[in-house]
Amino acid sequence: MKIVLSHLTKTFPGRGRGNRKKEDVIAVNDFNFEIPDGKLVGLLGPSGCGKSTTLHLICGLQNPTEGQIFFDEEDVTPLTPQKRGVGMVFQNYALYPHLNVEQNIRFPLENLKGSDKLSREEMHARVTEAAGLVQIDNLLDRKPSELSGGQQQRVAIARALVKLPRVLLLDEPLSNLDARLRLQTREEIRRIQQKTAITTVFVTHDQDEAMSISDLIVVMKDGLVQQIGKPQEVYDNPANLFVAKFLGTPPINLFKGRVEKGSLFLGEEAVLKLKQVPDQPVHVGIRPEGFILAENGSFTCRLSRPEVMGRDVSIVSTHPASLNPVIRSIVDAESCGHLSGDTVRFMLKPQKVFLFDQATGQRISFETD
Ligand code: ADP
Ligand code: MG
Repeated sequence: MKIVLSHLTKTFPGRGRGNRKKEDVIAVNDFNFEIPDGKLVGLLGPSGCGKSTTLHLICGLQNPTEGQIFFDEEDVTPLTPQKRGVGMVFQNYALYPHLNVEQNIRFPLENLKGSDKLSREEMHARVTEAAGLVQIDNLLDRKPSELSGGQQQRVAIARALVKLPRVLLLDEPLSNLDARLRLQTREEIRRIQQKTAITTVFVTHDQDEAMSISDLIVVMKDGLVQQIGKPQEVYDNPANLFVAKFLGTPPINLFKGRVEKGSLFLGEEAVLKLKQVPDQPVHVGIRPEGFILAENGSFTCRLSRPEVMGRDVSIVSTHPASLNPVIRSIVDAESCGHLSGDTVRFMLKPQKVFLFDQATGQRISFETD
């Protein structure tokens, strides 16, 4: 089932009275998007950008100030969460401590009414299937306190799946897990999502997490959608400086530069020939993989140290035009042989270099020869 968000907006009134009244917070600001059927969409952005509010609006825990939500052609905006058929998983699992795993998973089925009401046998079959899907069928009689964090999160996912939801919503489901378990569980979520083909929205502030499991990512900032696309497309083609900075590890390297007579200047060096860009000051972003070590390269930096990271080497250097304390460039270990002295010279890969308007942060596209 597809989900359509149409001019979805949520404003929270500012607190206080008179002159001490704070400004209203626009948590979600005119969000328009059609989430395709059966896809996993990663909703990504820093804390406070409106991710949870968006999820709460989709599942019906909050009402929008403006706009509508459709599941396929059905306007679900006036419906209660129970009527929407959504499964929701929260960061803190929210399991019932006094119930065992089986009872926790079964809980949403106990309250079904009328024609939805299930027999004991039907409930048991559903619980067994959901538990099997997240591979906890051997833990059904344990209490939550007898489970690891990862297992608890699986119970929470099974509990969301047991209702056979039309939509699965996950709000930072991995934040309470340690690094290794986080990696494993995200693969797991991807597997379950692909197997069930439930349209899923996955909220995270971790770009790596969103990039690795999403069919599409939505990058948000201050309630506003910045860019929507396939993870690789957004990485390769960021719409603005915020998106470019938010995606990628190590992060993009930023510089103050200028375009002058068809060349991009960093400091006094012309590092790239550009076509059809008017002279202007710019912000420049260069991905760590956008540098090529070259003895006659046009971009000269002060070498701090090489850091070996297995297959690749991260060269740490500095430059007066850099907006970060250090520049990180990733090159393969073989090409570092001749690295010595105080300076290091690079050629730049044009498709890894992005220019941004210094005032607005909007991307300025360019062509090279
Ligand atoms: P995220 O999940 O991306 O961290 P949220 O959706 O929780 O962000 O919050 C977005 C903005 O809305 C924040 O500025 C937050 O303080 C504000 N906000 C969220 N919920 C409420 C609420 N119930 N009342 C007032 N402001 C809220
Ligand atoms: Mg949140």
